[in-house]
Amino acid sequence: MRPFAFERAGDLAQACRMGSGTGQGQTDAPVQFLAGGTTLIDLMKLDVLRPNTVVDLDSLLTPREPVAFGPEGMTLSAFAKMSKVAAHPAVTAHYPVIAQSLQLAASAQLRNMATLGGNVLQKTRCPYYRDPSWKACNKRAPGSGCAALTAPNRNHAVLGVDDTCIAQYPGDFAVALIALDARVDLSGPRGSRSIAVADLHTGPNGQPHIETTLRPGEIITAFHVPPDAWMRRSLYLKLRDRQSYEFAITAVAVALNLAGNTVNEARIALGGMAYRPWRAKAAEAHLAGKPLTAELAASAAAAALSGAKTHGHNDYKPELAKRAIVRALLEAQALKEA
Ligand SMILES: Cc1cc2nc3c(=O)[nH]c(=O)nc-3n(C[C@H](O)[C@H](O)[C@H](O)COP(=O)(O)OP(=O)(O)OC[C@H]3O[C@@H](n4cnc5c(N)ncnc54)[C@H](O)[C@@H]3O)c2cc1C
Ligand code: SF4
Repeated sequence: MRPFAFERAGDLAQACRMGSGTGQGQTDAPVQFLAGGTTLIDLMKLDVLRPNTVVDLDSLLTPREPVAFGPEGMTLSAFAKMSKVAAHPAVTAHYPVIAQSLQLAASAQLRNMATLGGNVLQKTRCPYYRDPSWKACNKRAPGSGCAALTAPNRNHAVLGVDDTCIAQYPGDFAVALIALDARVDLSGPRGSRSIAVADLHTGPNGQPHIETTLRPGEIITAFHVPPDAWMRRSLYLKLRDRQSYEFAITAVAVALNLAGNTVNEARIALGGMAYRPWRAKAAEAHLAGKPLTAELAASAAAAALSGAKTHGHNDYKPELAKRAIVRALLEAQALKEA
């Protein structure tokens, strides 16, 4: 690991100031915030991230209220540990898709260390990004090319990619958040703002080293999920090479608002399939106002994957995702009335 300066922030305002003037939003920002460290320290050891300064957020990491409920819905502290929120009885009861996305992520040890804010900002697991001996990686070394286009790419993304990067967004929690139209609070040296979680991650857009819309020094402080009661009829289906301690090959976050058997509103987001957390709006529109049957679910799934672009080893992924969407919709339909 390269030498770096280690700073400890006393409070949020100081942390934002310490992070200002940096390329936040970029993979290689020279100042990095340290939350649980389960992504950051790994990548520093691998010599992928090379910050000059690490700002420890430790003083913020025991929030007074990791989970709160009010008329605006549920608020989750970005500094809360994944394990606390995953096991929270009210989260499990009111927003099963959120709880499950956390329960099915990583391992118990990691969930005890890792925070919600760090989770949404985790980096891709693309092996060519994580190993600097591969020279071609536009995300790690802008303009160098993309090794994954021709090397084995079995678990690379098929949605939202371009020919500069086909990396998969590996997280689960952000997928559940975008399905429920959640928002994220940000604090920075120039004040606070709130944006849709769906607007946090960017596409590759020819410059995959820029990953988010965060401004210099901005820190994620909280997530807000709207209060709709029908979101109890929701679930997170995650398919992976082994049943625990593994990232998704494909994952589906589903929430259904049903009147009898008819779909008033459906929410579908995909994990493991796309460059960023991916909302399947075409599939949602396809379902609206119709009785939910296996045939309708299959045609909605086809709509969700219509733009898929594969690169050889990952040719199997669209079909797998379609089957996962059908299964998730039918399992959500079978859940008892919210
Ligand atoms: C073996 C392994 C398996 C895993 N499996 C899964 C899985 O199946 N599903 C899944 O979703 N995840 C998985 N993960 C990822 C894990 O969940 C993340 O590493 C973790 O959530 C990151 O949180 P952290 O608090 O440790 O972040 P850190 O490592 O501390 O930070 C990550 C990044 O976010 C920035 N950051 C952190 N907090 C903030 C904030 N509040 N505001 C602004 N910037 C911030 C940091 O500067 C850094 O760039 C796995 C990780 C490992 C090592
Ligand atoms: S897919 Fe993206 S992260 Fe992976 S090698 Fe290509 S440019 Fe790098």
